[in-house]
Amino acid sequence: MARGGEFVVRPVQAADVVRLSERHDLVVIASGRGSMSAMFPRRADKSPYDTPQRKLCVGLYEGVAPSEPRGVTMSVAPGQGELLEIPMYATAGHVTALLFENVPGGELEMLAEIAYEDDPAGFEKLVLEKTREHHPATFERIDPARFHLTGPLDLLQGAVLPAVREDYARLPNGRYVIALGDAHTVVDPVIGQGANCASYSAWALGQVILEDPNFDERFCRKVADRRRNHVHATADWTNLMIRTPPPPHLLRLFGAMSENQAVADEFTENFSHPDRQWDILATPERVTSFLARHGMS
Ligand SMILES: Cc1cc2nc3c(=O)[nH]c(=O)nc-3n(C[C@H](O)[C@H](O)[C@H](O)COP(=O)(O)OP(=O)(O)OC[C@H]3O[C@@H](n4cnc5c(N)ncnc54)[C@H](O)[C@@H]3O)c2cc1C
Repeated sequence: MARGGEFVVRPVQAADVVRLSERHDLVVIASGRGSMSAMFPRRADKSPYDTPQRKLCVGLYEGVAPSEPRGVTMSVAPGQGELLEIPMYATAGHVTALLFENVPGGELEMLAEIAYEDDPAGFEKLVLEKTREHHPATFERIDPARFHLTGPLDLLQGAVLPAVREDYARLPNGRYVIALGDAHTVVDPVIGQGANCASYSAWALGQVILEDPNFDERFCRKVADRRRNHVHATADWTNLMIRTPPPPHLLRLFGAMSENQAVADEFTENFSHPDRQWDILATPERVTSFLARHGMS
């Protein structure tokens, strides 16, 4: 702003984009999962699902003792989905986010559908029951007497349809706009990579702006090239994690993690490096080779 920028907050429609492109050197669409992303065609080759693969129910709760060591945990209920437990500091203080990732048609799907406002106590009772039945390691740390949602606004239910879209679009006036973040690539939150991927993508875009301030198609291609490996690896890895039934080589890796700390550590470390994770997981042969490097046949 000190250098002459102007910060404007207002809704933008797809029809505004041409006019904006004539007033600015570069237009970047980072409008999340909303309708603006339709400007960028969905890539069928990178978007394997036509419907959401998980029904989500995420809320902030009191009454869940932290894991030891304290951290994010993931419980996997075969055939039913996953539960991510995330310690958080919110307006209610130290609380726990419970993100239920429920397989459609499974026994926990209803968590994404029942209305909390209709019967708050009944909702919490159902969450407790489903956790006891399907995610016992988390249930063991819950104090049922203290367990409750921190407030009606601290609950999100729904589903995400994963999609990888084209990196950029050409406008009728010949200018180009770039898609960024969820407007470009939406992933299911099962491994918490969406915002990480959006940040990476923004950084890559910034790097290309520094190198080449000619905002033409060549520029857009450079942005696409710069972020492709990371963004596509994030989408591919996430899409593998939510496949039903789970692919055998993923199960093999999970089994190996339960037996070998170094394997588990490398998998965990790779949450910061989705491209390295996909190097391991892209094919059954790659998993075999990764496990062999850890002395596991
Ligand atoms: C339950 C859940 C849990 C998640 N957990 C994680 C996690 O642990 N880690 C992680 O990395 N990611 C996580 N994600 C994903 C993460 O939230 C998204 O990937 C990230 O928010 C995308 O950022 P974005 O800036 O592209 O879009 P958004 O955060 O959606 O921001 C888009 C902005 O654009 C505005 N906007 C939209 N349309 C218009 C318009 N027409 N005009 C003007 N403004 C507009 C919106 O109001 C919004 O402010 C999670 C997602 C969900 C659903």
